Amino acid sequence: MSKIYGIDLGTTNSCISVLKDGKPYTIPVDGNGIVPSVVSLDGSNLLVGRKAWNRAAAFPEQSIRSVKRLMGTTEKLKLGNKDYDPEDISAMILRYLCDEALRIEGHEVEKVVITVPAYFSDAQRRATMEAGKRAGLTVERIINEPTAAALFYDHVLASDGEPESKNSAEALPKEASQYALVYDLGGGTFDVSVLHMGEIIEVLASTGDTHLGGDDFDKRIVRHLLHEIKEKEKVDLEDYVPALARLNAVAERAKISLSEKASVRVEETRIPTPKGKSCTVSMEFSREEFEAMTEDFVDRTVASVEKAMEEAKLSPDKIGKVLLVGGMTRMPAIAARLEQIFGGARMPVVDPDLSVSNGASIQGGIISGENCEQILVDVTPHTLSLESLTYDYEQLECSPIIPRNTQIPVTRARTFATVSHHQRIAELKVYQGESRFPADNTLIGETYLELAPAEAHCPILVEYSYDLTGIVHLVAEQKGYSRKTEIRIDSRNPQLFSSQGLQEIEDGADDEDEEAEEQAIAINFVTQRARNLISKMQDGEKKNALAEALARYEKALVDDDSLVDEIEDELLALIEEEALEEE
Ligand code: ADP
Ligand code: MG
Repeated sequence: MSKIYGIDLGTTNSCISVLKDGKPYTIPVDGNGIVPSVVSLDGSNLLVGRKAWNRAAAFPEQSIRSVKRLMGTTEKLKLGNKDYDPEDISAMILRYLCDEALRIEGHEVEKVVITVPAYFSDAQRRATMEAGKRAGLTVERIINEPTAAALFYDHVLASDGEPESKNSAEALPKEASQYALVYDLGGGTFDVSVLHMGEIIEVLASTGDTHLGGDDFDKRIVRHLLHEIKEKEKVDLEDYVPALARLNAVAERAKISLSEKASVRVEETRIPTPKGKSCTVSMEFSREEFEAMTEDFVDRTVASVEKAMEEAKLSPDKIGKVLLVGGMTRMPAIAARLEQIFGGARMPVVDPDLSVSNGASIQGGIISGENCEQILVDVTPHTLSLESLTYDYEQLECSPIIPRNTQIPVTRARTFATVSHHQRIAELKVYQGESRFPADNTLIGETYLELAPAEAHCPILVEYSYDLTGIVHLVAEQKGYSRKTEIRIDSRNPQLFSSQGLQEIEDGADDEDEEAEEQAIAINFVTQRARNLISKMQDGEKKNALAEALARYEKALVDDDSLVDEIEDELLALIEEEALEEE
């Protein structure tokens, strides 16, 4: 079996690793293996990586960087006189990594594991898969970056013993050694995950911010430089792209220096201006000043850390290790801030730049059977829900089917019910997001189920599956009437589930008033129906029986999936009985 390579396709930098004699090894593409995720066109010559990065400062309009921020969108990117999808640009970076790996190592790269931020949506994961395909690669798996980092850490631990640590864990309770927090601050994204590290690595919670990273820290320095230039040189460069590109590069250098030094002097004499002349800027920044001007960003990451801890139902003293990932974590203020929160937790020194791709190569090894010691458990990054009517039929809401942070692969089914007699169709809208309100979430796919004529409250079983690459499958079934529909959701091409069929059915329907038609396409969550009935029922045996069945049903949904079907049948029978009586 050919080797499966691990690729960290980062916003700012990408890396490619592979297992050599069971150990992860980063292929030294562009010298040290840290390859800028930049492409640039020089005449007809396409440059990728370090060379493209060098050129991008002088020719930003012929270069593309941070394409990862656009993954999952349909935005077009111009390079020369051609338009590209974000997937095409990512494919160029992947192709470059693989071509260079072949040149350096002498082996063709065919199969890969690619990492994405844990917070990436389904559309963003799909786009990443597509980029791999367009690069001519077989993408064996998409995994979360923090999970990959933890896999690498686990490997280091298994082969070399405990790595050096910044502080001691002596004060921690014993169980804490089982829990780790991965804090990943890169160039464009922030991710935080809480992991249980036992015989298997289990992701208990992951959250983050897809629009927070080192680029934002750079922009704060740029803002000061622009202000200074405006004051001293009387020229406003705020919208002048060539100047901004230069200033961004200058700011990033200053920021990196401040990780080592207490202060830095910025001297730049070749800043282009729109009038063709260049201007100068000279400024001193202290580490303290830089920390003060970026404190709100660090605060935002800390808020996410707290949210992840809350989701994992753990307090900081339960965390044994804090893993720092991403180039930005070299900023001393970040480790200092985390030390304040996690007190005695260890911060083992694992390479913040290479741990993700190295971890991905370990996952590659696990898949190809090279290294089977670690099993990875991943989670869904967002809640997947179905739009349904609220119990009072007043409005539409999202009823969760697979909650956020459920281990994947996962299949979950829930029963809904039709709301009207001889309802012709059930409209099925799949949403991703944490809100109760459809308008605040993202619609990632929709279809409908054509129904056989039946009484109102006829059960409709809706099943979602979420696979290891983060792709969603939906199966809906009208129970007892063998009517079924199935879709594979491509959230980036919603027209695939065009509502044409739906339109035809509606057009062909008998004249119904608007309200009836609206009801005819909606369904309603079983638990909500039960709750609604209970609220209207007189106290007595029947009400108690229904309430008791509902309580058992809700408990089973959380605790024991194997009991759900049976209790659900019981609950539906009680609902049906009561609803008939009501009519
Ligand atoms: P990504 O995962 O988004 O590709 P990386 O993990 O490679 O990003 O991190 C890139 C970011 O880290 C950039 O913003 C870069 O400026 C920053 N960075 C790299 N080295 C340092 C350093 N020594 N101090 C502070 N920031 C750094
Ligand atoms: Mg990264």
